[in-house]
Amino acid sequence: MTKSFPEVDVVIVGMGWCGGILAKELSESGMKVVGLERGATRTVENDFSVPHIRDELEYHARTGLAQNLKKETWTVRNQISETALPMRKYGSFIPGDGLGGSGVHWNGQTWRWTDMEFKIKSNYVERYGQKFIPEDMTIQDWGITYAELEPYYDHFEKIAAVSGVAGNLNGQIRNEGNPFEAPRKNQYPLPPLKQSLACDLFTKAAKDLGYHPFPIATANASAAYKNPDGIQFGQCQYCGFCEKFGCESNAKGSPLNTVIPVAMRQPTFELRTNSWVTKVLMSKDKKQATGVNYLNTVTGEECFQAAKIVILAAFGLNNTQLMLTSGIGSVYDPVSQKGLIGKNYAYQTGANANLFFKDKIFNPFMSAGGLITVMDDFHANWDFDRSPQNFIGGATIWGGFFNGRPLEYHPTPPGTPSWGSAWKESMATWYQKTMRIAANGSVMPNRYNYLDLDSTYKNAAGTPLMRMTFDYKPNEHRLSTFAAGLIDQIGKSLNPTMMTKPAPRVTPWNAAVYQSTHNTGGTIMGTNPSNSVVNKNCQSWDLHNLFILGSSVFPHNSAYNPTGLLGALSYRTADIIKTIYQKNPGKLIT
Ligand SMILES: Cc1cc2nc3c(=O)[nH]c(=O)nc-3n(C[C@H](O)[C@H](O)[C@H](O)COP(=O)(O)OP(=O)(O)OC[C@H]3O[C@@H](n4cnc5c(N)ncnc54)[C@H](O)[C@@H]3O)c2cc1C
Repeated sequence: MTKSFPEVDVVIVGMGWCGGILAKELSESGMKVVGLERGATRTVENDFSVPHIRDELEYHARTGLAQNLKKETWTVRNQISETALPMRKYGSFIPGDGLGGSGVHWNGQTWRWTDMEFKIKSNYVERYGQKFIPEDMTIQDWGITYAELEPYYDHFEKIAAVSGVAGNLNGQIRNEGNPFEAPRKNQYPLPPLKQSLACDLFTKAAKDLGYHPFPIATANASAAYKNPDGIQFGQCQYCGFCEKFGCESNAKGSPLNTVIPVAMRQPTFELRTNSWVTKVLMSKDKKQATGVNYLNTVTGEECFQAAKIVILAAFGLNNTQLMLTSGIGSVYDPVSQKGLIGKNYAYQTGANANLFFKDKIFNPFMSAGGLITVMDDFHANWDFDRSPQNFIGGATIWGGFFNGRPLEYHPTPPGTPSWGSAWKESMATWYQKTMRIAANGSVMPNRYNYLDLDSTYKNAAGTPLMRMTFDYKPNEHRLSTFAAGLIDQIGKSLNPTMMTKPAPRVTPWNAAVYQSTHNTGGTIMGTNPSNSVVNKNCQSWDLHNLFILGSSVFPHNSAYNPTGLLGALSYRTADIIKTIYQKNPGKLIT
């Protein structure tokens, strides 16, 4: 029998950055909030102490902080003609599980997405004409503007202790930062991390070629810092255990050491971990969400939590899955191009090269999640003419590395055997003497890239797995080829002893190799109910008391990492719920 809990004001599914921000903001305003997290409770003190948290086998090789694929995974394929098979081992992307979600083991690199993305279709049509957009590319304007998000970006950067340097402060261009960024009202709360030799080399090479490199902004605190909620950060120790690991020195901005503990101080907030949400329930007329069903994974009990507002914040992919399994909205069909849930799934592309210098020592074991120097000349720079390259989107190019961990990082020159004594010797020779130049590239949505439910495979709760159909399309092949050319140009200008050839991603997407956990689309944002699942307030067009927070609302993917935008959207949505929605509950916010 299902155990029912009395109705609360808000139930939030998932306790990562998005869920944590909403939980903190809404409970603080006096609303009674329940946060449901499928994974376990954890704290920095109990779970991230040294030496345990530096266990590479546990956290890198066995992806100890990621979703447990034995309980829940995805089936994947490149084309609709193929049979999708379950991802049984990570993997292209590694979404988190447990309190704090992926925000616990992210790198921290933080970008502000701008009107270049939010008005993507209008921008390209205006500049290049409608014919420039491939017929099967389903880009659309988002309906939100940078101006609406600016104060919320600012707040998120302060909460997460983002270290960086402004490139456009109130319209004043400053070349030490990103000169192509949109105007920001304030500096970052902390200065950039100390740059490494690899960063310095990249900076010099890029500048000499006329580009505009700058230290990436990242939620790795460059100094001890107290955020506006009174949370104390330690200074980044450059330990190199950032991506895929928790931070023991409270130097990485994570929901686990910021918004979640602040929410937990509120008597109006209740956290329930080990609570795996399986379905959003609706009223008979299907116009309202009434609450969620979840499984208590400790006791095995089926539970129902009633709520006036339901917020999905379970990571983009899981948000989409919950919409599909709950039967909310119309399922997207790539053949008829009807339906919306699952539409516009996108990912990112890239290219990279290793540069080997016999006369340099890089000390790669000293690093941080955002210890890279990056340039935005071929992405946010709208003066960059895409017509000769014939692609939509762009790529950021960076130099440096995030880690030099012994199990994960062993660069060897081309031609080195992949095991045995020759490999060991080469690794010992080059470990200290290698740096990386790489590109992060955008991926535009395509009618044949989408998410739906698999008809064969089920998860541990007996719900169908979500099926991912994805491949890079010619637009992305051209972009990645262009980015590989830039890497080649910058790398060669440094005159390394040896360099690997920067290979563009022009072969089918490979689910087995880690690329990034920047999966977007599935419950997209747009200007009206015929082109989108949510409006610019992340509010469902169908059920006005349902809000969706996560990268599933992005109608396309940028070269930028997603979390800066997620933070801003979460703070903005919380504000809208508190100040507008609560005055007219159940109404569409226009
Ligand atoms: C290794 C790595 C490095 C990254 N580096 C960067 C970076 O440098 N910059 C950047 O911008 N982004 C980065 N990201 C991406 C970033 O972590 C995510 O964009 C961000 O954390 C997503 O926040 P979220 O709140 O949407 O989801 P999450 O943080 O994933 O939180 C979702 C939570 O929901 C829970 N959940 C899921 N399904 C259910 C369910 N059915 N019931 C109950 N709970 C559920 C999950 O367990 C999880 O705790 C990185 C990600 C990874 C994995």
